[in-house]
This record gives sequence, structure tokens and C-alpha cells, in this order.
Amino acid sequence: MVKKGKVKKEERKPIIEVRKIKKTYLLGETKVHALRGVSLNVYPGELIIILGPSGSGKSTLLHQMGALDIPTEGKVLVDGLDITQMDSWNLSMLRRKKMGFIFQSFNLIPTLDAVENVHIPLLPTNVSEVAAHRRAMHLLKEVGIEDRAHHKPNQLSGGERQRVSIARALINDPEIIFADEPTGNLDSKTGEKVLEIIRKLNEEEGKTFVIVTHDASLVEFADRVFIIRDGLIEEENLGGKNGHAYKSESVELNKRKRKK
Ligand code: ADP
Ligand code: MG
Repeated sequence: MVKKGKVKKEERKPIIEVRKIKKTYLLGETKVHALRGVSLNVYPGELIIILGPSGSGKSTLLHQMGALDIPTEGKVLVDGLDITQMDSWNLSMLRRKKMGFIFQSFNLIPTLDAVENVHIPLLPTNVSEVAAHRRAMHLLKEVGIEDRAHHKPNQLSGGERQRVSIARALINDPEIIFADEPTGNLDSKTGEKVLEIIRKLNEEEGKTFVIVTHDASLVEFADRVFIIRDGLIEEENLGGKNGHAYKSESVELNKRKRKK
């Protein structure tokens, strides 16, 4: 009989590891230090909020984590693989397999209707058009707007457009969804509905979310909250999920009154 050693307590492996990344943009002769040494881990199933004022480096950080850009220094590991060493083909395969994106400005294609916008990420794959359409319709139903499937973006409200973009982010059944100011262009009531969809996807389907925002009211949905200022993470706190009481002076400073 094989004698077993003491079983080590299982440690969670991060799905994303950000290690000391810096991002410097060249603007003519001037260097802009958008990220000045950021490290953080994201674990599977977490909902992470990166909260900071405008210009603090949130979108830049999201782009480095989502394999949309490569840092000037440091590493980003996804499932233990260093994506800063991958070529653009492998990066696009990684994004297609694992990641979904939601942007403040929705980034929908104006000439396509809602269902076409949702299934467009499947076009370069070998999924048939019929199957892609079926899945897109299913997702539009999941976000509650299947009756708007044949509306073009300009025939949809802001909240409906953001739902289309959430459905599009889900089309590849990604493990991680990145959202940049997902409620930024929405009134507070519509924003809350969009957040409710995000919360459900996280809690019921186990999707990992990385959300960057300047809106402190989102922290109630988070497992953990990172405060970013001037390209540096200043604080890490527990979020409001699972009843954590969230307290942070800097968040209070940012807090927007929620209208009911
Ligand atoms: P946030 O999303 O928090 O508003 P960003 O990540 O967009 O902040 O920007 C961080 C800083 O980097 C800002 O000072 C911004 O002006 C600068 N920046 C962002 N993108 C570029 C770019 N492509 N070229 C030069 N500077 C940039
Ligand atoms: Mg931004």
C-alpha cells in the first residue's frame, strides 16, 4: 500500500496574476506613466472591482489584464502562462477562448442588428451560422431583450445596448469577463439592472469578473476592491459581497449618491 504523505491544504490558483507591471506611453517627447508597478491576483469565480478616479490607469490596467495590450515592464500570467511573451495570434486565440469584454461605450457595430452583434465573435470560428444565431438568441433572452433581437443599436436604449454587449461578451462562454465602466453611460436605475445581470452571471454561473470603474456604488457587488490612483494600487479591501461591511475613506470620497 502506498503511504500517503500529509495532504497539503488545497491552495487556490489564480486565474490572472499581474506582477509589477508598468505601462509608459510616449506622447511626443513626453512619457506618460500610466501604470507604475501594479501587482494583483484574481481567483476563479471572483468579482473584482478596480476603483479609481479618471486618469488613474484603470482602462490601461484592464487592457494589460485582458491581453489587449502588452505592458512596458512586468508580467501578466493567465492560467500560469505569461501572456507578455505571446505573439498576437496566440493572444487573440486566448481572448477568444477565455475572455469577454464589456465597454462603457458598448462598441456595437451600427449596421448590424442586436443578434448579429452578439454572434459576431463566433464568425472567425468553425461554429456554424445557424448554431451561432441560436446561441446569440439564447443569450439575448438571458439578458432579457430577445424581443429586441432585430433592432439596430440606434433603435435601442443605452441599457438595451449594454445588455447586447453583455450577451456578446458571453458568446464564447468565457471564464473571465472584463468590464470597463459598464454603467458609465447609463442612468442609475438602468445601471442597477445591468449590475444585476452581472451579479447573477457571477454568482449563479461562476463567471469571473474584473470591473474597472470610478463609481464606488459598485463595491457592494465585489469580493475584493482595489483602489487605484496615479497608476498604483493604494489599497485592497473586501467588497460588499457575502455581507462584508465595506469601509474605506477613499471610497467614501468617491461615493456617488445612488438614486432610487
Ligand atoms: P482611466 O481609465 O483610469 O481614466 P487610463 O488608463 O485611460 O485612465 O489613462 C491613464 C493615463 O494614461 C492618463 O493620464 C491618460 O491620459 C494616459 N493615457 C492613456 N492612454 C494613452 C495613450 N494611448 N497615449 C498616451 N497616454 C495615454
Ligand atoms: Mg478609462
